[in-house]
Amino acid sequence: MVKLNIANYSEGSLVESRTVIPAEINLSEFEEFAAPIELVFNINKIGSEIYVRAQISAIAKLVCDRCLEDYEWPLQEAIDIVCTADPGLAKNDEDDVYFITDAMKEVDITESIRQSLIIALPQKKICQNNCKGLCPQCGTNLNLASCQCKTEKTDPRWDALNKIKFN
Ligand SMILES: [Zn+2]
Ligand SMILES: [Zn+2]
Repeated sequence: MVKLNIANYSEGSLVESRTVIPAEINLSEFEEFAAPIELVFNINKIGSEIYVRAQISAIAKLVCDRCLEDYEWPLQEAIDIVCTADPGLAKNDEDDVYFITDAMKEVDITESIRQSLIIALPQKKICQNNCKGLCPQCGTNLNLASCQCKTEKTDPRWDALNKIKFN
């Protein structure tokens, strides 16, 4: 879990940094995150409000959709977290707003960190812009080697047209 020790914060600003493993933020089911995750918190306490800019650095381990090789993808994310004693503000349906009271010593922000990393994962996983992928016939990784297969030069989008018989 990632907690802010709000009882220790005094008026003004401070910086905290922390290293967590993916399992600590419930990311173990996402095997994409194998490396430790670095967190830097820029904390500003103003009266009873605490504003935190969390910078998150992680390395995702992904599998390329085209060539099926593993590759590493560095992620840099920044999120703004607000801890407030104002119930009206906390009621805003925002994930990164936490309600605090004077009696609270810490705030668990695990879910904010977790969500921002999941959202940061790329939809299309391509190891490099010009990844050549695998040969559809023999499966050779065309980034590493070329193969002897004859590549069909016809555009597959024309296949349907070629099947139409013109009388
Ligand atoms: Zn690839
Ligand atoms: Zn081939």
